[in-house]
Order: sequence, then C-alpha cells, then structure tokens
Amino acid sequence: MENQPETTVRRHRRIIMFPLPFQGHINPMFQLANLLYSKGFSITILHTNFNAPKISNYPHFTFKSILDNDPEKRRFLLADFAQDFIHTQDHADALRHELKLLLASEKDEPVSCLITDALWHFTQSVADSLNLPRLVLRTTSVHSTIVYSSIPLLHARGYFTLDDSHSEEQVVEFPLLKVKDVKKIGIKSTKDLYAELIGNMVKQTKASSGIIWNSFKELEETELDRVPDDFPVPRFLILFPKYFKASSSSLQEQDQTIFPWLDQQPTKSVVYVSFGSLSQVEEKEFLEIAHGLVYSKQPFLWVVRMGFVKNSTWLESLPEGFPGERGRVVEWAPQHEVLAHEATGVFWTHSGWNSTMESICEGVPMICSSFWGDQPLDARYMSDVSRVGVYLENGLQREDIASVIRRILVDEEGEEIRERAQVLKQKADESVMKGGASSESVETLVDYISSL
Ligand code: UDP
Repeated sequence: MENQPETTVRRHRRIIMFPLPFQGHINPMFQLANLLYSKGFSITILHTNFNAPKISNYPHFTFKSILDNDPEKRRFLLADFAQDFIHTQDHADALRHELKLLLASEKDEPVSCLITDALWHFTQSVADSLNLPRLVLRTTSVHSTIVYSSIPLLHARGYFTLDDSHSEEQVVEFPLLKVKDVKKIGIKSTKDLYAELIGNMVKQTKASSGIIWNSFKELEETELDRVPDDFPVPRFLILFPKYFKASSSSLQEQDQTIFPWLDQQPTKSVVYVSFGSLSQVEEKEFLEIAHGLVYSKQPFLWVVRMGFVKNSTWLESLPEGFPGERGRVVEWAPQHEVLAHEATGVFWTHSGWNSTMESICEGVPMICSSFWGDQPLDARYMSDVSRVGVYLENGLQREDIASVIRRILVDEEGEEIRERAQVLKQKADESVMKGGASSESVETLVDYISSL
C-alpha cells in the first residue's frame, strides 16, 4: 500500500507543517506530509535546529528553520522542552514573523493551512492573528486524548495523589483504567509544568480547525463516540504507517546489518525489543531485561539506545558473554521493517503510540511495558480492549519476562492473541482500502483542506 510521493503533479496549494522535534512526533508529521504531498499539496516544513530533520531525504519539501537555539542542548524530558520552547512570547513573535513572510511569498502557492503538533499550543493564537486555519496533529490515541482532556477532573477527584494501596483500584470515570495507570501519566499537581502544558494543548486543540490522529476507526470506534462535545472540531483518523513507513524521518542511523541474521531465524520466533526514543531504565531493570531475554530461550533483537540505561553510556553493565548466539543488540533499528519481517513473532514495546500502530499494521502481538505519559493508557488499551498485547504491569522481573515471552510465542495459550493480532491487521488493511474508514478520512481531509 506504500505510496511513492508523486513529484510531477501541478500543485496549487501549500500546507505549512510544524512538528515537535522528537522522534515520536517527527515520524507521524512526516508521514502526514508525504500523504498530503501525494494528494497534490506543496509542503513547507518548519523545524527547530534541535533534532532537525534530514532535509536531504525530502527533496520534494521546502524547509525553514525557526525559533532556536542551541542544537547541542540535550532535552530528554518533555518538561525541559516545555520550559525552553513553550513559555515565551518570543517564540510566538518569531513564528508570526516567519508565517507572514511565507503567506506573502509570491513565488509559492497560496497557503491553505498550518498543521502543527498539538503540543505547539502557542501556534493557535499566532495562526488566529493571521487568519490562518490551524489543524492539529495529535500523536497519541483518541482514547489518550480523552483521558488527557479529563486531567483537571481526575486531579480534582484526587487520583494523582492516592497512595500505592489504591493502585489496583478502578478509575470510576474511566473504568478501563486502574489508579496506577493514571498516576503513571506523570502529573503531580495541576500547577506543574507538564500539567500546564497538557492543559494548554487541550484548550488550543479545541480552538483549532481540526484534529488528526494516527489511528483508525475500526480500532477506536467506541472512543470516537466518547470524544467530549467541547471538542467541536472536524476529526480525522488516518493510519499513517500503512501509507508511509517512518524510516525516512529517523533521526538516528538505523542498523541495517540485522537483516541477514533475521533471515536465518525461524518464522515468528524473534522477540523484538525496543522502548522508543526517550525512555530510560535503571541498571537493575536493564539486567532483568537481559536475563529475562536469555531465560526465554527465544531469539531476540534488542534496541539499546545510547543513554537508555541511567548513569551509563551504553552496554557496559551487561553480563560477559551477553547476548550470546541467540541475540542481537543494536543502537537503533529500522523498526517498521523489523516488525514486517516474517521472523518477528512478538514486539516487546514501551507502548509509544507510533510503535503500537506499527505493530498493529504488521499483525505482531505485543508485550506492553510503559514508562509515563500516554504509554500506560495505550498499554492498558492494547491488553484489555484490543487484546493484542499482554501488559507487563508489575515491573521488570526476569522470570515474568521469560514467562510472558514464551506464553505469546510458544504456548498454546498464545494462539488466541496471535490470531487477534492478525485479525486486527486485516482490519487495518481494509481500513486503508478504497471505501475503508482510513481511506475515506484521507479524502475528507484533503477536501476539507482544499476548502479552507
Ligand atoms: N524507532 C526506530 N528505531 C528504533 C526504535 C524506534 O525507527 O530502534 C521509531 C519507531 O518506528 C517509531 C518511533 O521511533 O516510529 C518511536 O515513536 P513512539 O511513539 O513509539 O515512541 P517515543 O519514542 O515517542 O517514546
């Protein structure tokens, strides 16, 4: 289904897009950009110097660096980022200046709209001041969007400050969730920076001209019906990884040397392990993962990013002789291609939303871990609603890890989950076919943007 962007079409309208500069936000924005380009729009990407995209991979787009700053400054946490980028009037002024130039440009096509990451909430008032419609790309699920919009309510009901004795209790307002799931979002008080960021994001998403999710109706139909009435904006659910793989927007070199090794592994035998671009573990947890993988006796491919282990550079704390014959450890993988490989049997993921969507698109069942933000919500959804994953929700212990891997890959008990993953993949395939919900959403979005 993957399209090649069409380069010969005569283009009449331009879309300006502004991704948040983190891998999990850049990937879906570029997938959307490729999709809109393939539908005949010209694309201008605004980007920061920090985590700047690989411009040479996109000769068909125009790029403009704005806002920053010191590209070397490391910002692992969204909160650092919020502090740096989101709280100053200077950024709004800089963006307004840039947009004015782009809107006035006579050599470019007229601009239809601005599409920004939902977290760039300050862009709404800038767009309003220029009468430029702004659409929002929300890089999480519809379900998480609804939970996030209820954070003030959850806070008022005291969930974020309940002690651990309440962890397993149900959240009355969201019966799917346990107290520990909402606590893991990471909000301490409605006054902390992260809560303020989310509050502003929700407010300015409601004020936008439309919201786009990387998801599909067949997955989140019930959630779509639950989107509160105070989100009165057009909604689009598009299954991005079915249209374009995320590899071309990878910020890090993806290790391609793994494929000859993968080719030699039995069908659906390999555990692919990756916890995304930001999460970190303690050394103790790192060792539990390593031992759990060995105990499982299954082949494994493990992505260990530089800095993944707190207070450690890379692999120094691994036991001698690890990974042995059965495993491979790489710094960064061509993830979607690994998931699509016939040797891959299960994805042990941190439940980042892009990773989750990529796994669904390839019919790979998941072992779900989670660290913070929307991840605990996604992990719960995959395990309890879609039932294509098993949530490893009580920490990382080697025996549990080995047992859950064998349960999904080897035991008869895993048959049902493997089958459900295939059925969901089938639904995903159908959604992007002509007449399918994702395909119709693409057409509606194109018509909508053309009408602006
Ligand atoms: N990814 C990758 N190689 C890796 C690990 C991850 O290309 O070794 C990509 C993955 O395909 C996904 C993105 O990085 O598109 C991670 O996004 P996600 O939302 O899953 O997690 P985040 O990094 O935002 O926590």
